[in-house]
Amino acid sequence: MTRLLIIGPPGSGKGTQAVHIARHFKIPAVSTGEIFRDNANRETPLGKEASKYLDDGLFVPDHLTNALVKDRLLDADVQDGFLLDGYPRTAPQVTELDNMLAARDQRVDAVIELRAPDAELEQRMLKRAQDQGRKDDTVDVFRRRLDLYHRETHEVVSVYAGRGLVVSVDGSGSPDEITEAAIAAVEKFLATQDRKIP
Ligand code: ADP
Repeated sequence: MTRLLIIGPPGSGKGTQAVHIARHFKIPAVSTGEIFRDNANRETPLGKEASKYLDDGLFVPDHLTNALVKDRLLDADVQDGFLLDGYPRTAPQVTELDNMLAARDQRVDAVIELRAPDAELEQRMLKRAQDQGRKDDTVDVFRRRLDLYHRETHEVVSVYAGRGLVVSVDGSGSPDEITEAAIAAVEKFLATQDRKIP
């Protein structure tokens, strides 16, 4: 029963890491960005609404994002744990997630923070733009996403850091090395937490 979050700047490889780390802990990875992109591609009402923001690198409004996550967290597959990728990303979303979990007497166990220098992030994004063709992977939109990350999401990391839940992982290096380092760091952290419980 592990409930994890992964937070990292755009281009940090957070989505790829989320999938590998989740597999190790045998929990589903839930990516809000992925859900929005999937809805946008299928042109669902949510997707059409979200596209207005996604393509410009802006955050989808909290009420839509919160409703989406609230709904997803009711699914059977996440009752015994999950790794949330891309949520919460704003301070109000943190409160919202706290409330969703508290209603079930649950809480977040650890928050993985992936760190990488801005210059490296931009290089990786440019490569991903060639490989995957994501609409929000252009230099201008990327810089806006990075700026938003620094302005809004750092606050989210600070809140969890204040609760002693943040596990920072060096996000430069090969994807496999980062996965290994992240898993080792989380396992070590969870083991320490267990010891605190009488
Ligand atoms: P990245 O972290 O590389 O920007 P994501 O796949 O996590 O990529 O997110 C892509 C986009 O999806 C974001 O730029 C934003 O528009 C939207 N999004 C994802 N999660 C959230 C969230 N929690 N709140 C608001 N918007 C979100």
